[in-house]
Amino acid sequence: MDERDRTERCEGGVEVDVEPAGVPVRKLLTFCPPVYVQRYQAVLGLVRQYQPQAVVDLGCGECRLLQQLRWEPCIERLAGVDVDRNVLTDNRQGLQPLIADFLRPRAHPLKVHLFQGSVAIRDPRMVGYDFATCLELIEHLDSDVLHELPGMLFGHMAPHIVIVTTPNADFNELIPGLVGFRHWDHRFEWTRREFQNWGEYVDKEYGYGVTFSGVGQGPPGTESYGFCTQIAVFKRRGGPPLIPLYTTLAGLDLPYDMVAEITYPDQGGKIELHNPRKQHRRKKRGTRHCGRAASAHHDKPSP
Ligand code: SAM
Repeated sequence: MDERDRTERCEGGVEVDVEPAGVPVRKLLTFCPPVYVQRYQAVLGLVRQYQPQAVVDLGCGECRLLQQLRWEPCIERLAGVDVDRNVLTDNRQGLQPLIADFLRPRAHPLKVHLFQGSVAIRDPRMVGYDFATCLELIEHLDSDVLHELPGMLFGHMAPHIVIVTTPNADFNELIPGLVGFRHWDHRFEWTRREFQNWGEYVDKEYGYGVTFSGVGQGPPGTESYGFCTQIAVFKRRGGPPLIPLYTTLAGLDLPYDMVAEITYPDQGGKIELHNPRKQHRRKKRGTRHCGRAASAHHDKPSP
């Protein structure tokens, strides 16, 4: 499936007719960086703001967002969920630790899981994530799945923060040559009013405050169309930080299929500080010193 919608093929610049105040003007519709990159950047900004420990990306596709999130030091658990098994198996290798991760292990642990499953279905392992993202997912959902999503996401999982992005149909007028939706697999594209109605429904039913923004600014004079991508940031009202409901999964129905479990090297709670006296003792004993990274990785603290 070609995952990039028409707006992302406008990166190189396309001439557009814009008539914001009845005056036709030719403008270049360009997104720099591309809109999908701007979406990931928006999420990274929010992760840095809220510092979540456990993040799940629903409809993660090619795992591009997960690849960026794994560098965030606050995150200790990262998961991706997608209904398409092939997209997960094709991309799981890209989430493996790099040599640099072994040379310079993280201060805190990081586990990455990929699950094959539908966002319409409740899996107990989805509870306990404090930050969830759904980037360009909802417009791909059939109406019955879309109907189940709020109960699964805001009711069952109930993360502290949820980010949802979707195309802004109001912006479509600015996209050259666009007939119908931006992508063949889209079931709908919502105007800003329609997306806000959905957000207000979630707020009323599940107790989430919501703010709307976007990425992918049109040319000057097109501000009234909004952003190319609309973003809703949901924040659970009040309540303590989430603690996983399930201390054991034994006997529970686990409908999602785990297709990857990746553990990153970490310092195991032991951060070796430079200590010249210790090095001197090592030399005297003739101990081979393997350097900071290797010792941090292999020298597990003794029990
Ligand atoms: N979020 C990714 C990104 O922004 O790069 C990928 C977005 S892609 C346009 C939509 C993804 O949603 C696809 O990978 C598709 O397989 C997935 N998807 C569609 N229906 C789904 C469902 N019911 N449950 C989970 N994922 C689903």
